[in-house]
Amino acid sequence: MEDYPRDLMEFEARFSSEAACRDYLFGLRWPEGFSCPRCGHRKAWPATGKLFQCAGCDYQVSVIAGTIFQDTHKPLTLWFRAVWWVVTQKNGASALGLQRILGLRSYKTAWAWLHKLRRAMVRPGRDRLSGRVEVDESYVGGAEQGMTGRATEKKALVAVAAEADGKKIGRIRMHRVPDASAASLLSFIAASIEPGSVVHTDGWPAYNGVAANGYVHEVSNLSRESGSAVELMPRVHRAVSQLKRWLLGTHQGAVSVEHLDYYLDEFTFRFNRRTSRSRGKLFYRLMQQAVAAGPSPYKDMVKQVRGRKKARIQDIVHT
Ligand SMILES: [Zn+2]
Repeated sequence: MEDYPRDLMEFEARFSSEAACRDYLFGLRWPEGFSCPRCGHRKAWPATGKLFQCAGCDYQVSVIAGTIFQDTHKPLTLWFRAVWWVVTQKNGASALGLQRILGLRSYKTAWAWLHKLRRAMVRPGRDRLSGRVEVDESYVGGAEQGMTGRATEKKALVAVAAEADGKKIGRIRMHRVPDASAASLLSFIAASIEPGSVVHTDGWPAYNGVAANGYVHEVSNLSRESGSAVELMPRVHRAVSQLKRWLLGTHQGAVSVEHLDYYLDEFTFRFNRRTSRSRGKLFYRLMQQAVAAGPSPYKDMVKQVRGRKKARIQDIVHT
């Protein structure tokens, strides 16, 4: 049963105490009822803080161990408000905005929280796209005039797949790819699209293997410089231009290329649920995935950037 607050009033009434938040996490972690990881006993009592104690063997289990909230010293009530705020902001949340609304002293904490939540936005084993799907790649930052298919250090090449839903866009998938080679693009397609679907691409030779990989390949041959790709694959191009606006707007372009994939995950999470009228349901989804996703300590999140020159999207975005 999906259990979530429907609006801000319900949210505030329900999650006003640590115990209420802890109980909610308990329900998400053990939807079939508690089972002690040590002895398998099915009953537990609330202990101190974020702990529950097994009624069989007295083993103490933390509701946040093994989740994205692991090791946090902050109150769960604050975390819950962060999640609520993230899902109710139409255009997403910036670290500065989150810091302000929660009254967090450090920007670093707000930044880390948002990154932890982004890691929970992709559900492992989610369904692949199906039906009729447009696929193309785009430089986030926009290709410079005359530049085609060649990455430079500062540019991020993003592969994009967009389902057709009549004239509208269904679901999308986006991922950074190292280059526009057949190996990169075909593995993006395999990970993102159900075999048997119609995959619509332009005539870029790297897509030649699409049919051999079990898809119905529809090719529109056109010169890449002509600009008519926008008309032939309108859905991909609409999604990409929204992505660029979002990076520049909500995040003011302050996104490092190394972290771009996580922003793509957030954009995709929001985009694919843009028509969902219930923010409460989004809250429930994200909490559910936050509990299922493993912890990602701050030092691991910054490690991938350390020692490398930070390329910022703002240096390269040019729409
Ligand atoms: Zn036990």
